[in-house]
Amino acid sequence: LVRGLEGLINLPCITPDNHRVSLWVNTGLMTDVVRSLDHGAEGIGLFRTEVPFLLSERFPSEQEQAAIYREQLQAFAPKLVTMRTLDVGGDKALPYFPIEEANPFLGWRGIRVTLDHPEIFIAQARAMIRASEGLNNLQIMLPMVSNLQEVTGATQIIKRALRELQEEGLDVCMPPIGVMIEVPAAVYLTRHLCQMVDFVSVGSNDLTQYLLAVDRNNSRVADLYSAFHPAVLHALKYIVEQAHAEGKPVSICGEMAGDPGAALLLMAMGFDVLSMNASTLLKVKAVIRSVTMSTARELLEDVMQMSDAQSVRSSVDLALYNAG
Ligand code: PEP
Ligand code: MG
Repeated sequence: LVRGLEGLINLPCITPDNHRVSLWVNTGLMTDVVRSLDHGAEGIGLFRTEVPFLLSERFPSEQEQAAIYREQLQAFAPKLVTMRTLDVGGDKALPYFPIEEANPFLGWRGIRVTLDHPEIFIAQARAMIRASEGLNNLQIMLPMVSNLQEVTGATQIIKRALRELQEEGLDVCMPPIGVMIEVPAAVYLTRHLCQMVDFVSVGSNDLTQYLLAVDRNNSRVADLYSAFHPAVLHALKYIVEQAHAEGKPVSICGEMAGDPGAALLLMAMGFDVLSMNASTLLKVKAVIRSVTMSTARELLEDVMQMSDAQSVRSSVDLALYNAG
């Protein structure tokens, strides 16, 4: 725990002028879940299911997956747990499922892989839904979506998994489905996507990488990688406006949500949920509890006029400094 912030664990995440912001967490392992509950998280906004797959020597069976998923769902119940379907490819390769490509970040990644391998997808969807029996706090989220057909295909598989389990006698129901907005194409499909699903969540790590054409893991171009780039900020603001116009909640689960300064901008844009690593949650809560929404909105209005990431960062840092 961050020293001095323990007292915030049970206090609400609310601005001095009474605006509530939900702080959720990103998880991979059970240790993250325990830490998250210790920090007062209100839900899991991103469970990276590839983490247990990466630690295994072969594809985990449906039974094995269900046991892992059940632990997370049970620990957080009745709070919501957002499970992302397998997101391999790009920089994440399973040793027992090698993918060799010249350009992996533009290749076979995320939903593209699982739609091409429905047997992997259906086993995972069945495991998730099976694990939610009696708890009903599961949400399923789809990574790397770039067109509507992928959402239709994935939803059909999830519905099939549900039907099969119900026919087998399980008392399970259809989980809310969400899409990650992390590819520029998806930004401009936000309204259409919102008409098909229950929620959207911005993956700002990949969205920044793809909008700026900067590899998120390449130190040589690390100076060019910034979620404070005006192009990223305008995309984020647009996504929130479009999702809310369709009456759908929008969250953000990239690293940016755990940066206290960025969190102020995201709160001012109207994000319903900020999902972050547990280690940053109390710092973000401390800042939100000390800055009014009207101050955050003024800051946002200022930075949306700026033309480079450095100026945005400086303004945000100054606002944090003024907030103490
Ligand atoms: C993202 O892209 O912002 C995200 C949350 O997913 P990941 O970091 O696992 O790609
Ligand atoms: Mg991503």
